[in-house]
Amino acid sequence: MDSDSDFLPTETLQDLDAAHHMHPFTDGGALNAERARVVAAADGVMITDTEGKTYLDGMAGLWCVNIGYGRHELPEVAARQMRQLPYYNTFFHTTNRPAVALSQKLAEVTPGNLSHSFFAGSGSEANDSNLRIVRRYWEVLGKPGKTIVISRKNAYHGSTMGSASMGGMAYMHSQGGLPIPDITHIGQPYWYGEGEGTDEAEFGLVRARELETEIRRLGEDRVAAFIAEPVLGAGGVIIPPDTYWPEIQRICDAYEILLIVDEVICGFGRTGNWFGSDTFGIRPDIVTVAKGLSSGYVPIGASVVSGEIANALYDSGEFNHGYTYSGHPVACAVALENIRILQEENIIAYSGEVATPYLAERWATLGDHPLVGEARSCGLMAAIELTPDKATRAAFKGEAERVGGICRENCFRNGLIMRSVLDSMVISPPLIITKDEIDLLVERAGLALDETLEEAARLGLMS
Ligand SMILES: *Cc1c(COP(=O)(O)O)cnc(C)c1O
Repeated sequence: MDSDSDFLPTETLQDLDAAHHMHPFTDGGALNAERARVVAAADGVMITDTEGKTYLDGMAGLWCVNIGYGRHELPEVAARQMRQLPYYNTFFHTTNRPAVALSQKLAEVTPGNLSHSFFAGSGSEANDSNLRIVRRYWEVLGKPGKTIVISRKNAYHGSTMGSASMGGMAYMHSQGGLPIPDITHIGQPYWYGEGEGTDEAEFGLVRARELETEIRRLGEDRVAAFIAEPVLGAGGVIIPPDTYWPEIQRICDAYEILLIVDEVICGFGRTGNWFGSDTFGIRPDIVTVAKGLSSGYVPIGASVVSGEIANALYDSGEFNHGYTYSGHPVACAVALENIRILQEENIIAYSGEVATPYLAERWATLGDHPLVGEARSCGLMAAIELTPDKATRAAFKGEAERVGGICRENCFRNGLIMRSVLDSMVISPPLIITKDEIDLLVERAGLALDETLEEAARLGLMS
């Protein structure tokens, strides 16, 4: 049965949205001055709004719809599971078939010897679990002083108190008294933005060695873990220099600390392999997964940990932590079906071997545009840095973010969804994107850049 809202005109939906719906990460005044776009349907890599306008979704929703929209298998699995067992908890010595099967599957596909999954409803929750897991781990090993988690400036690990604290977004920390205690942040491996005048490989080593300096400053007996995304996603698709991860791994091996790799975006094929850890040769003790785990069709996240961590937590009484929806049977069944499709249709091999090199080649052509200081990509995530002066990488006149915002609107007008991060533009399309669709994406991005250049000049924002 359709709900009433299926029949309401767009304007009414927008009015009701303005009256009753609070949007995440949104300036409400600015939103309500413009009204929200009402997205109604989607198929493959395209979404459609209630006015019938279609857009190529360069962001796969929010970095998550890896298998693309419109797969009928997932709703069928969800309906079957809902009829059979819509919900049961995994507390009190109970389990369910989808949770068992998904935890076994995650042990198979995640990197190295990771073997046990602790389920959550989202990436933020899974990272909050990680914070509790690593502190509890050291406590049961008789080292309760090891509570500090080292993270990086500009990292994104979620929006709950714990995960936003581990994240390094200054604008998030500026509200509500974050970060919580015992979280510290080192620099990010952002060579384009912060490595001016330095050699890229050398810069990667310098930024990695900040971890060693920070461990020594705090004392090894105080540090529980280091957490990082293989490629910083929401921070602007910051791809580390090749030297960075091997040096981070060396430091994690040399000191007694755990390595949490946040694979919420990079996992499930985004970087051209199953996990970002595979692409960069990282050996994590814990990975965080969400987003591509279910291709966004249902909310689910998980912390996947080594047997050593799982055993430590299990052999020491009760771990006082869990969620009503940990191991939710419908969410687990849908995630499992998503992974089955990724495996059986070789979608990750396609994205890595066909789509990745093609996107890299086509995306690089945007680097020739007068407004673009750098075009970079890793697998199917990519960024362009906008600048009024390619040679000096100068910033635009006026506030940062303005030109990025203009470009985002120009993308929408040209039927492309690209996200802006300050004055850079990022994409993360579904992994099933075809070569023709990549051509269309790059063509529309080019049109939007032309219009943005004109507009920035007209507004006097070019230096
Ligand atoms: C999106 C994201 C999260 C948070 O996931 P939610 O499901 O939004 O809570 C955590 N880490 C990374 C790297 C993310 O991109």
